[in-house]
Amino acid sequence: MTAAILLTREGRRVTLFERGERLGRKLSASGNGKGNVTNVHMGPEHYFSDDREKVARALSRFSNCDTVRFLEEIGGIFLPDARGRVYPASRQASAVTDLLRGEIARLGVEVKLNAQVTKLWHDGQFQIVSGGQTFGADRVILAAGGKAAPNFGTDGSAFALAEGFGHTVLPCSPVLVQLRCEPARVKGLKGIRVDGGLRVLRWGEEQFSVRGDVLFTESGVSGDAVFRASSYATKGDLLLIDFLPDVEENKLKEALKRHTGVEKLLCVVNNGLGRALFSRAKDEEELVRLLKAFPLEVTGTLGFAYAQATRGGVPLGETDENLQSLKQSGLFFAGEMLNVDGECGGYNLQWAFTSAHLAAEGALK
Ligand SMILES: Cc1cc2nc3c(=O)[nH]c(=O)nc-3n(C[C@H](O)[C@H](O)[C@H](O)COP(=O)(O)OP(=O)(O)OC[C@H]3O[C@@H](n4cnc5c(N)ncnc54)[C@H](O)[C@@H]3O)c2cc1C
Repeated sequence: MTAAILLTREGRRVTLFERGERLGRKLSASGNGKGNVTNVHMGPEHYFSDDREKVARALSRFSNCDTVRFLEEIGGIFLPDARGRVYPASRQASAVTDLLRGEIARLGVEVKLNAQVTKLWHDGQFQIVSGGQTFGADRVILAAGGKAAPNFGTDGSAFALAEGFGHTVLPCSPVLVQLRCEPARVKGLKGIRVDGGLRVLRWGEEQFSVRGDVLFTESGVSGDAVFRASSYATKGDLLLIDFLPDVEENKLKEALKRHTGVEKLLCVVNNGLGRALFSRAKDEEELVRLLKAFPLEVTGTLGFAYAQATRGGVPLGETDENLQSLKQSGLFFAGEMLNVDGECGGYNLQWAFTSAHLAAEGALK
């Protein structure tokens, strides 16, 4: 959508093919419906890719400030929250989609809906097959998403279009997703939400640590901190949850001495959590350990259906600085189709905006 706007503004004739009934359905669902479009704290360290340096160069060419400027030029006001996550002032993701759709309509971009592209090849010019018809084009930007959240039209089938030109598609895995753990370990904790500290350990070595929301579910853990940790965690890793990240162990031990039984935990942690932890601890030492470093082994994730982003896809190394294919000139990539995924907090949409600008700029040359 962004690339279509930029190219049409420069006088190019653009056709957008969208397999769904509407443009931008995933964008409308982003940020819990609030639309976290970018982040104040931007940098390549927030991204995973086969070529992070290229991500860095891309971000320096089209930054978080450029995203806000681009959106505000179309309309609206975009503001950061205390953690640097940038949202529309209205906190409505669907309104961001409405802005982009409105601009697309105003510019007269040709939009084909319910129009899945099923074949794409080049024989002097690109040939695009959609709905039984073939359309010609001199440039193509593939921005068909990854495999996450297939209910928004992204089931990974579009990777075949890139493979047709000889591109590699790196194995895909879901990220920004709930983590599964042994059900017995989370039994009785379902629905409990804490503002905790979360660490990811592999073979005893810390991979990542974060402070934030942890929500216990039937099959594991969810919440903002878990989504962020899911970018770093893999099957077999150990999660350690600190239910009291602001309380030192000595102070905690003092407080626990004042009562016997489960009453020890009154006003220390949520009562339900307190009962569950108390019943698991054989002595006070273990209770302190469970409160400060509750262990959960990661057994997997909830999968693509529940994920917000995809790791893997078309390697950045198979594209030039404007994300033009090194296999087929005139073919560009943008967004989650590429092997770039960001942390939770607006980094994936920033990549979508950044890559769309680079691809559009390349397509103009
Ligand atoms: C629930 C949810 C919440 C999220 N929240 C945030 C957030 O707050 N901040 C953030 O930064 N990121 C968020 N993300 C991630 C972010 O939305 C994506 O990374 C981003 O939308 C990717 O943009 P894209 O243009 O590459 O692909 P998409 O937005 O996935 O769009 C690709 C489009 O291509 C269409 N398509 C696929 N195949 C074909 C085909 N063969 N022919 C025609 N059309 C096709 C699809 O129908 C789809 O509409 C969220 C994701 C989800 C699922």
